[in-house]
Amino acid sequence: MHDILHQLQRAAHDAGRPVPRLLAVSKTQGETAVANLALMGQTAFGENYVQEAAAKHAALAGTAAAELALEWHLIGHLQSNKAAQAAALFDWVQTVDRAKLVAALARHRDPRAAPLNVLIQVNIDDEASKHGCRPEDAPALAAAIAAEPRLRLRGLMVIPTPHDDPALRRPAFAKARALFDALAAEHGAAVDTLSMGMSDDYAIAIAEGATMVRIGTALFGARVRAAG
Ligand SMILES: *Cc1c(COP(=O)(O)O)cnc(C)c1O
Repeated sequence: MHDILHQLQRAAHDAGRPVPRLLAVSKTQGETAVANLALMGQTAFGENYVQEAAAKHAALAGTAAAELALEWHLIGHLQSNKAAQAAALFDWVQTVDRAKLVAALARHRDPRAAPLNVLIQVNIDDEASKHGCRPEDAPALAAAIAAEPRLRLRGLMVIPTPHDDPALRRPAFAKARALFDALAAEHGAAVDTLSMGMSDDYAIAIAEGATMVRIGTALFGARVRAAG
């Protein structure tokens, strides 16, 4: 973990940018791997599936890691029928891409809990992907989120088209940054998070202004593909 933190620092320094937050993407990793990183000081963890996150929460309950204030981020596509569970389990949902989901998450967030932090997932350049809102629809979605007291609009998340050459993703990152700046100008300082960059392209994302990078492989090693 200290290797990757060092590499993030170096990439930020080289680009003249602030050091981004590290989101440890723990999908397919067992609770022991999560606990080990947590005990080393990592607080933010990203999961793709509600079910898998629920199982990890249950497995970590009562362990030393559960005493640490871990922050769980949903970074996988969220179906509306899982919104209630997601609103209860996660501190952040990074994949809000439609008004129906905004309403469902707001309705189900426990009023006694802190507001749910929300990022709008924008389909920044991948015409084929069904996930993420169109860039031109982000302002209206942002207004809908900002109007919900149980939600807190924090920014944007993007997953550019996976070109073999990560350098080809740079224009998508730059476009996301421009959209993020416009959102921050409209909604103020609470909008502070631009989530972009993964193991093979975080340096480019940081150079284009990422404030949070989502790292799995470079932190945990290659994922073992689950059966089925
Ligand atoms: C898996 C995943 C990551 C991490 O990918 P790595 O290449 O392993 O770093 C980041 N973001 C999302 C949305 C993911 O699904």
